[in-house]
Amino acid sequence: MIKFENVSKSYENGGVAVNSLNFSIEEGEFFVLIGPSGCGKTTTLKMINRLVDLSKGTIYINDKKIDEYNIHELRWNIGYVLQQIALFPHMTVEENIAIVPELKKWDKKKINYRITELMESVALEPKEYRHRKPSELSGGEQQRIGVIRALAANPKIILMDEPFSALDPISRQKLQQDMLTLQKKIKKTIVFVTHDMQEALALGDRICVMKDGEVVQCDTPKEIIEHPKNNFVKTFFESGNIYKPSLFSREYKVKDVMYAKLYNSYKSEDGTLSIKDTESLETLLNRVLKEKSVPIDHLGEIVGTITHEHVLKFISLNLEKGGELS
Ligand code: ADP
Ligand code: MG
Repeated sequence: MIKFENVSKSYENGGVAVNSLNFSIEEGEFFVLIGPSGCGKTTTLKMINRLVDLSKGTIYINDKKIDEYNIHELRWNIGYVLQQIALFPHMTVEENIAIVPELKKWDKKKINYRITELMESVALEPKEYRHRKPSELSGGEQQRIGVIRALAANPKIILMDEPFSALDPISRQKLQQDMLTLQKKIKKTIVFVTHDMQEALALGDRICVMKDGEVVQCDTPKEIIEHPKNNFVKTFFESGNIYKPSLFSREYKVKDVMYAKLYNSYKSEDGTLSIKDTESLETLLNRVLKEKSVPIDHLGEIVGTITHEHVLKFISLNLEKGGELS
């Protein structure tokens, strides 16, 4: 879907922002770019919708070079979500959402229907919210509108540059969760920039770790966790505190994840090996990293299943509470 071939960017002052990037993003993939500040994430993202010109190399979208597309056509077909203040302050919520559909000359009725549908998809009551100005929304609500505005004209590709990083931890987690649910439904190709490893692991189908303008490792979360390519990836990952030793030294059990209501109540019958609810969180984590979902055995009976997402959610919830389990 999106292919980078030897892509480099240097600025006039001689600084090299990114150097010889090579990777492909599949259709429907949630692709995360992560790395420390200044490593070239935003530059990489902005080259996709031609907000930044390449110095060398080629980017293809659906096998066509990006500079062969009409630039407006290209931008309207790529949703873009920024960290903050991306909504136009003097326009209402519905006017903000309608921008690209109007540019595409959709009729009024279709636009209105679309606005209602999108607002409902992120649990913002259309009647209550559509006539508000951005200043009459909380930070989390503004970012929700930012996300659905990017989806408005149904683009195939969505670029998101640290969209949740200005939010408080609770709203942030809520939006991450919403994003996962939404993506299951819409299956867009998403390129998501963050500097937060917890967020990358929670959201990404694949994670591309960058350093000093280069790609260090581009892999599934499981591969990154189990086989970090070098010390940089390992340290960066550990500084994300996912594996805070305290979390495991508290000896959380599978049942703690279930107490936190992080499981599916249906019982899988596909013969997957179950795990006892008295087993450790660490054992569970190792299982869900390899398998999509693991059946839970309580006193010899399968009572539900736990997925990778559930476990990451549990871990991040507890990290935010400083490792305390309420
Ligand atoms: P990130 O998003 O990972 O923090 P950026 O892509 O914004 O990194 O920046 C990568 C590098 O390019 C940085 O060293 C930054 O200073 C430099 N850079 C970004 N934009 C410009 C610009 N317009 N002119 C000169 N240098 C720039
Ligand atoms: Mg940036």
